[in-house]
Amino acid sequence: MSKGIRNILLATAFAALLIPARAVDPAKVPARYKWDLTVIYPNDAAWKQAKEALEAKSAGIEKFKGTLGSSAKQLKAGLDFFFSVQEELSRLGAYASQKSDLNVGDASAMEMRQAMGPLEAEISAKMAWVNPEILLIPDKKIAAFLKEEPGLGIYKPVLDDIIRMKPHTLSPDGEKLMADATLMKDTPEMVYTLFSDAEIPRASVVLSNGETVKLDAAAYTNYRGSSNRWDREHVFSAFFGNLDQFRGTFGAMLNGECKKDWFNAKARGYKSCLASALAKPNIPVEVYANLLKNVHKNLPTLYRYLKLRQRMMNLPDLRYSDLYASVVKEVDATYTPEQAEDLVLKALAPLGDDYVKTLKAGYDDRWVDLYPYDGKHSGAYSNCAAYGVHPFMLLNFNGTYEDVSTLAHESGHSMHSYYSNETQPFPTCDYTIFVAEVASTFNENLLNHYMLEHTSDDAMKLFLLGSYVDNIRQTLFRQAQFAEFELKIHELTEKGEPLTGDRLNEVYKNILDEYYGTKQGITVIDPVCYSEWAYIPHFYYNFYVFTYATSITASTALSQMVIEGKPGAVEHYRKFLTLGNSMPPIEELKVAGVDLTTDAPFDTTIKAMNGAMDQMEAILDRMQKKK
Ligand SMILES: [Zn+2]
Repeated sequence: MSKGIRNILLATAFAALLIPARAVDPAKVPARYKWDLTVIYPNDAAWKQAKEALEAKSAGIEKFKGTLGSSAKQLKAGLDFFFSVQEELSRLGAYASQKSDLNVGDASAMEMRQAMGPLEAEISAKMAWVNPEILLIPDKKIAAFLKEEPGLGIYKPVLDDIIRMKPHTLSPDGEKLMADATLMKDTPEMVYTLFSDAEIPRASVVLSNGETVKLDAAAYTNYRGSSNRWDREHVFSAFFGNLDQFRGTFGAMLNGECKKDWFNAKARGYKSCLASALAKPNIPVEVYANLLKNVHKNLPTLYRYLKLRQRMMNLPDLRYSDLYASVVKEVDATYTPEQAEDLVLKALAPLGDDYVKTLKAGYDDRWVDLYPYDGKHSGAYSNCAAYGVHPFMLLNFNGTYEDVSTLAHESGHSMHSYYSNETQPFPTCDYTIFVAEVASTFNENLLNHYMLEHTSDDAMKLFLLGSYVDNIRQTLFRQAQFAEFELKIHELTEKGEPLTGDRLNEVYKNILDEYYGTKQGITVIDPVCYSEWAYIPHFYYNFYVFTYATSITASTALSQMVIEGKPGAVEHYRKFLTLGNSMPPIEELKVAGVDLTTDAPFDTTIKAMNGAMDQMEAILDRMQKKK
């Protein structure tokens, strides 16, 4: 590994670098760094055979109709059959999508992938009667069935989940009406996407070098982090000034979205839009309130960060448009795949020998398709849809530190899947979205910590600490800022207040003032930025954005407990990795060692953020003295 610093500025510490992956020739890549998909199906012909067999088998779903409540044995037979269909479907999908991700130009793989959509739709249509029929079985009878037939036990979480939704399930007529109403439900989001991605007239800005830039969303993300202050200020005011001109139109769209959510909540008997949105993922409403309460309590730590940023950028005042420019220089270190694996394995050593051995064996066993090729899917992911096989990681490794961190991240997902699949039967193996990013960011934190412990280079330390702190700032504080706005506008809707563009600007302004300490003189915000809400597509995702903030809090608190050697921390976390979706997500996190309905995980996370800032300030003081 070569160390040293180059003067390239990071757009933001965690945004993907806009350097295209250098393609390599797949023929020259050692097999160890390439997936072996034959462990899913030996070849395409076997895949096609399995697909035809599944199509034939799925005709049998119908045979159980009207019988599920007849006996415990029959209910088990039905569930066994339905889940065996799902398992094969998932395996077929894994092979097809992974094969085509390796080469988008592979026409036969693309054909297989495209065949999955209709097959999935067909099977889901064939199963549409199942949940309603289970809902008709009285709760007491299901409880008796579970006692009578021990084999039903593996389906208990699934049955509990169906029963949980019972009070909010309507009569068949009511459900029909709700299903018909979905014809209109996508309209606000569709209009938003069409308008903001395509039809809105774009503002142009002339940069300090004389270049004229048309500010679509991609150009805005590119230039907002410019190292030239004049440029980024002008980019901000042109981009948001343009959105602001259309705030009435954007407001009408968001008003439509909130009204739709309120209609759904009322129709199903929920007290609020929030309660309705959190019902399906089974998250208690208090988790949301607790997040906002704790973020408010800890705003002084955000103010401290903002002041540190101002100091590092050497600015007379800090503007909202200064938040994307880099404050830390990227580390010019390059790593070979062997070094990357070695670093990740060493960093994860606190999780125990068998964790490290299993992951190492996974690397040897071709879990990772490492290099970028022409036609390969960009970015990185982990896929574990082939139950009983093993997880697969897709990377586009170029040897940067970011790439090492991505390997740690995807290894976190894969090991979570590995242990859940090993422990859980298929019906409960798949962990939910609410906990999905915990194991991945947990591993990033352990890597960051290991690197800090093993370098004496101040610039490298500043880079690692800066990335760590900025990640908490963007993922905890900024996402909570959005979550608070989303809650406020839904509450206004519930009170019957119309959301106009002006009203939305006012709500957003009040949140910005608090989060960025404008009254205390911490940040200066140009009024055009009050329309930033119009730029955020997540407000059409029905209370999704807060999960970024809760995930980073859970993973930071959990990794701190492991780093600090808290008794039981490793065992509890390892237990969490085995749970799949066998428990409600908040309960699973309690097993891991964090209770998101309390202050504790937030206190730990904020303490870690302050600790990192203490170290950064000490390094800066040292550097200043040397000058
Ligand atoms: Zn991830």
